[in-house]
Amino acid sequence: MSSRTIQVSAFDLVVFGGTGDLAARKLLPAMFQRDRAGQLPDEGRIIGVSRRALGHDGYLDFVKKSLSTYVKASELEPEALKRFLARVHFVPVDVTGESGWPELASLLASGNEAVRCFYFAVSPDLFAPISERIGQFGLITDHSRVVLEKPLGKNGESAHAVNEAVGKVFNEHQIYRIDHYLGKETVQNLMALRFANRLFEPLWNSTHIDHVQITVAEDIGVGDRGGYYDTSGAMRDMLQNHIMQLLCLTAMEPPDAFEADAVRDEKLKVLKALKRIDERNAEHMTVRAQYRAGSVGGQPSAGYLEDLGNDTSSTETFVAIRAEIANWRWAGVPFYLRTGKRLTKRTSEIVVNFRPISHNIFDATAGRLSQNRLILRLQPDEGVTLEVTIKDPGPGGMRLRRIPLDMSFVETFGVSNPDAYERLLMDVIRGNQTLFMRADEVAAAWQWVDPIHAAWAHNDQRMHTYAGGTWGPSAAIALIERDGRTWLEDSE
Ligand code: NAP
Repeated sequence: MSSRTIQVSAFDLVVFGGTGDLAARKLLPAMFQRDRAGQLPDEGRIIGVSRRALGHDGYLDFVKKSLSTYVKASELEPEALKRFLARVHFVPVDVTGESGWPELASLLASGNEAVRCFYFAVSPDLFAPISERIGQFGLITDHSRVVLEKPLGKNGESAHAVNEAVGKVFNEHQIYRIDHYLGKETVQNLMALRFANRLFEPLWNSTHIDHVQITVAEDIGVGDRGGYYDTSGAMRDMLQNHIMQLLCLTAMEPPDAFEADAVRDEKLKVLKALKRIDERNAEHMTVRAQYRAGSVGGQPSAGYLEDLGNDTSSTETFVAIRAEIANWRWAGVPFYLRTGKRLTKRTSEIVVNFRPISHNIFDATAGRLSQNRLILRLQPDEGVTLEVTIKDPGPGGMRLRRIPLDMSFVETFGVSNPDAYERLLMDVIRGNQTLFMRADEVAAAWQWVDPIHAAWAHNDQRMHTYAGGTWGPSAAIALIERDGRTWLEDSE
């Protein structure tokens, strides 16, 4: 065990949806990696639950297959695998029925003192029945917690219904609403940069910051998730949760401590201060669009309607919004938000653009003065870049140029970052809710997003299109260029 790895307490992690894609791709590999790192105690169990009539060995085969698919072969050491598999159990339960629950209850009873984590890696319409049965079978102990996966509703009303159903059985301090973006190293570094350095916080306001861009771009299309995606769209799938969480962490006031409620209180204030966008201004402040055929990475790509096999869908695969936060710190500073599928490349980043210097002492031969930028990259290569202006080296006179002070975490620390789920799962077991969303935050995010959806419907707002492999529709470029600014990739 590394000297910096502190073991968590004894736990039972019950994964409802233990045979699903999320379990296979994220949860089981994350727990395996934490086990490899020495963070799991001997008394740590992982209990898969689903309807499938798998015996113990059948589930172990599923786990082995998942790990061999999603963990590097070089990291699947036989000893580590053996230790991990010894933690794994499986109970077949149809969560909407009664059978299987007594077996689950008796397995859990053998670990009554352990931290008990119920992970709902199932469709959200099962959250209510599962919670009800957990209550009915008396499975909640003093050390129990529940993890809810996105999507948390389709709008404010349905999110409220989910929170109500789960809240009948669990207290708010036991509920962990996961947004895996918050488990990313860069996101936590945003807080470290802002609140552990003297340098940035004095400049972190409308006097010094010109605007902020937040982009979450995917190069893939909807693939075989089309059925689900078409009921959701870019706004619900990405903007309402991931992008709004990034916006909150960028814009929030310093919390009085790095503690769950202190951080979440400040995030909530940002959400409440967002200027309302509705049918009066949605046309001007938002762009929605769908991808058409194009070319990604040199390969021809189909349009959304073809991918979906339905030529009538009016679901957006791209959204861009000009948001504003009506408070003292941010008055007049636009936050340009955008997300989409089938864009030029996969990238997620926050770009903080500082204002120009107040007086230029250099003459025209020095060249155009660039503005400072702080770029926080969440993926693919997590890191932070601070762009500063320096003198071009050499005897050629005072020529200025912008250079990046680049900190790629992988290069700087020589380690690859743990997956966000590793961090977040350990936080659940440790009982740390700082990086999880509180019910009132989810409600406030929907309160901002719902009127935008309503405005799109009310105004029958135009659905723009964009060719696959581009940065989205020209209307999204116009959205920022109207203000005399450009998206990062157009500003080089
Ligand atoms: P999935 O592959 O369809 O898995 C669903 C799981 O639920 C399966 O294990 C299924 O097993 C189980 N299940 C369904 N009905 C059940 C029932 N009545 N009783 C017991 N188990 C039942 O879905 P997924 O991709 O893992 O996603 C699960 C949830 O996480 C969804 O809400 C999704 O939106 C969310 N999510 C997924 C990802 C991801 O990367 N996949 C990322 C973020 C959020 P049986 O059929 O054997 O019962």
